[in-house]
Amino acid sequence: MARKIKKGDQIIVISGDEKGKMGKVIKVFPEENKVLIEKVNIVKKHERFRSPQEPSGIVDKEAPIHISNVAIICPNCGERAKVGFRIEGERKIRYCKKCDQSVET
Ligand SMILES: [Zn+2]
Repeated sequence: MARKIKKGDQIIVISGDEKGKMGKVIKVFPEENKVLIEKVNIVKKHERFRSPQEPSGIVDKEAPIHISNVAIICPNCGERAKVGFRIEGERKIRYCKKCDQSVET
């Protein structure tokens, strides 16, 4: 299945507590339809003792956000974009419904 959001995409949060924040997708969780976004949805996390180099304590960590709460920022037009798919040659590519340009990364 083609995915609308991929690692490396610039996104904006469109609903929830983090609404309006922008960042880069650093990880995608396809099964859960969630994405991890750099410096967005930071939670304080209690870490158990892992090793002498990584002692237990409270650390700031990004928590995944459901993809329905985010939208891609189109790299071509810079707008918050709706993404569609189309076939070009053999490939299925993502494109911005605003400027009609490919948003493949
Ligand atoms: Zn665009």
